[in-house]
Amino acid sequence: MTKRPLHPRSLAAQAMGKIDPLTKGVVPPIHVSTTYIRDEDNAYSSGFIYGRPDNETVHEAQAVLAMLEEAKAGALLFGSGMAAATAVFQALSPGDHVVASKVMYWALRAWLLTEATRWGLKIEFVETDDLAALKAAVKPGITKLVWAETPSNPLWTITDIAAAAEIAHAAGARLAVDSTCASPVHTRPLTLGADIVMHAATKVLNGHSDVVAGALCAREDDEFWARIKTVRKGQGGILGPFEAYLLMRGMRTLHVRQERQSASAMALAQKLSAHPLVSRVLYPGLPQHPGHDIAARQMQGGFGYMLSIQVSGGERAAVKAAAHVELYKRATSLGGVESLIEHRASIEGAGSPCPPDLLRLSTGIEDFDDLYADLDQALKAGHG
Ligand code: PLP
Repeated sequence: MTKRPLHPRSLAAQAMGKIDPLTKGVVPPIHVSTTYIRDEDNAYSSGFIYGRPDNETVHEAQAVLAMLEEAKAGALLFGSGMAAATAVFQALSPGDHVVASKVMYWALRAWLLTEATRWGLKIEFVETDDLAALKAAVKPGITKLVWAETPSNPLWTITDIAAAAEIAHAAGARLAVDSTCASPVHTRPLTLGADIVMHAATKVLNGHSDVVAGALCAREDDEFWARIKTVRKGQGGILGPFEAYLLMRGMRTLHVRQERQSASAMALAQKLSAHPLVSRVLYPGLPQHPGHDIAARQMQGGFGYMLSIQVSGGERAAVKAAAHVELYKRATSLGGVESLIEHRASIEGAGSPCPPDLLRLSTGIEDFDDLYADLDQALKAGHG
């Protein structure tokens, strides 16, 4: 009798159901060894040689993520989201042309403009949610990579992954997607045609604001994926075993957290749209959002835990409102169980597409009424 295939939430809840063979523990041990015994014939029959290229706890966490992303070629974990993202660019060659989203995680944009450019990559930034602009920027035979972040931080624009993949592939390029803010619960970019998916696993995958981690997943086990593995091994970018364990523990509850967080974000977006002190709400779940129709197609079960609001009264009122939150935490980052608020323009500085009156909200798992009441009183205090 064939076994009934299990839903990803069941597999994730049990971290792929792996049992410790020694004790029958339902939570496998953390593998900390950095080195491994050679066989008498000098081989390494365990498959492990040294801790920089590989680690069993990292393998186990990678298996959960690869399952969630339907990544046929597997997943690789890194010491941060930036380490994962930059490994993709470092797998390219000097002179390669890259087209990347104009609205993206600001520190990666800064890295692309400085380090990647210094190493000879030619980076062009376009609004990847504008398919005509993307098509015009991609040069057949010359562009090697299209990098799209969707929903994009902090404006939450939506790139049509399937259409972007078609444009990239027609030009002989690969498509990589930063899917941090969708998570595999809502979007699986590889199934829509993307070649690589990237996560700042620091965010909702871990979900408890206590691990810095990054991940890449690939559709094809090709020479580009092999280059990325070589980059991680050579530069020592692998995640540590303790962090891999914590990340795996976080992913066991990913579905329940993400569903709750996205439902609250949607309800906040709707209620804040009618707030007299909010001039605009940016959230792809709202029908008036320019990317809503595409988001409704490529995101299942919700539109994510991130939204931004523009505050009537401008930058001063926005900064003052953020200063008056009581339940929200005034801090950078996103995706944790605790709700965070941040005035993004102060962080991103010159060259950022972020308007000065914008507050970014990361929605946690607290009671919805408490979250809304906190924002309401902070917005009122911001206008006082
Ligand atoms: N991508 C997105 C969308 C992010 O929000 C972040 C961090 O905030 C990163 C990448 C980088 O991740 P990390 O901080 O783990 O390096």
